[in-house]
Amino acid sequence: MKTLTCQDLGAPTCTHEYKANTYEELMAQMHEHVAADPVHEPERQAMAAATPEQLAEWDAKWRATFAAKPDEAPAQPAPTPAAPSPVPAEPVAPPEAVAPSAATTATEAITPPPAPPAA
Ligand SMILES: [Zn+2]
Repeated sequence: MKTLTCQDLGAPTCTHEYKANTYEELMAQMHEHVAADPVHEPERQAMAAATPEQLAEWDAKWRATFAAKPDEAPAQPAPTPAAPSPVPAEPVAPPEAVAPSAATTATEAITPPPAPPAA
């Protein structure tokens, strides 16, 4: 993803931003924008009157401008507001406080001797 402005592409004053992954995307956006924005009437006339050589020259210049732009991080899906999560994270429960030897100690109590046989 690269960001260029109309000024990058040679328009004197327009700061319209293009965000494109490829040069083809940039050109599609530029043609759409230049066709729609009245500020680009001079460019429209220039492009309509341009010779194939001039068009190729501009194409090469724009291509180099696009290539020279640093690639940015891919576009985020949507800026999510930094709202706290509705479900708070469960606190980690402490391990059961049971001594592992307590149960076995209890069963090892000394058993009383058998009762003497009845006489
Ligand atoms: Zn523009």
